[in-house]
Amino acid sequence: MGDSKRRPLAGRRSVLLGMAGLASSALSACANSDSSAGPTVAGSGPATGHGPATGPATPPPSIAAKSSEQASAALAPTTAATAPPSKQHILAEFSGRHPKEWGLLVTGVVNGSASAKVALTFDACGGHGGTGCDHALLETLRRLNVPATLFINSRWIHANPGLSAELAADPLFELANHGTAHLPLSVNGKSAYGIPGTASVAAAYDELMGNQQILQDLTGKVPQFFRPGTAFYDDVAVELTRRLGLLPVNFTINGDGGATYSAATVAVEVGRAAAGDIVISHFNRPASGTAGGYARSLPRLLDHGVSFGRLRDVLTP
Ligand SMILES: [Zn+2]
Repeated sequence: MGDSKRRPLAGRRSVLLGMAGLASSALSACANSDSSAGPTVAGSGPATGHGPATGPATPPPSIAAKSSEQASAALAPTTAATAPPSKQHILAEFSGRHPKEWGLLVTGVVNGSASAKVALTFDACGGHGGTGCDHALLETLRRLNVPATLFINSRWIHANPGLSAELAADPLFELANHGTAHLPLSVNGKSAYGIPGTASVAAAYDELMGNQQILQDLTGKVPQFFRPGTAFYDDVAVELTRRLGLLPVNFTINGDGGATYSAATVAVEVGRAAAGDIVISHFNRPASGTAGGYARSLPRLLDHGVSFGRLRDVLTP
């Protein structure tokens, strides 16, 4: 449902791979704990989260797309068919581990898919100034019958209980886990954009599972996908996320630069989407250019035969 018709633009992806590689440093939009993940960047090595706390000074580039090997890893997510290990079990298993990577592109994080579809993901971060809802954006998605995955933080749910229930009941959308306190996911307190990450295995567990329970109570389903506040992880935290039955997901295209782009820039960035891309944007910033950009770009993409799916549609066989 909602998947658009016609054939996707096969072949463009390889072009995008080259274009996306420019990245260098990047500033997150999730920089403010209340704004959200507007990550960026990346390059290839682990990033060191530096940058202003107020958002990108320059439009952050999209993450360099992953290799086909990495994308294919997305086809075998850990499932949550069985109960996840207890906190005690997790502590015993992961305590004492030393992370080697930190950033947006970390081993085990899914950035793209092998699907012919594009996956649109929208974060709602909560916190000061971050509890709004971009109704115009949701209306555009509904009008065009374009499905999406909504990464929602506990703080946003607490501020919007009625809306959260409404979104949970809408089959066009899939709800995913955007953390409990909207923190970078670390096992040793590493920071991103000045925001200290979770300081221990126990804190990382709580960041993951606190919101997991809230979402499960809200939807009646076990969420399958996770993205932390700022979208930064370390590799041990990524492994921990998978161990708990959640697939850690970032993106190939930064659609709205943490809700800082103009509508024109959003339209250009989102308009680049092709088969296998995962696009990150936000639906908690109604004053941003996000809704306007999507209203321009989605009809064009549909006209060009691009089809869309939720993460569960593009990351599971
Ligand atoms: Zn966020």
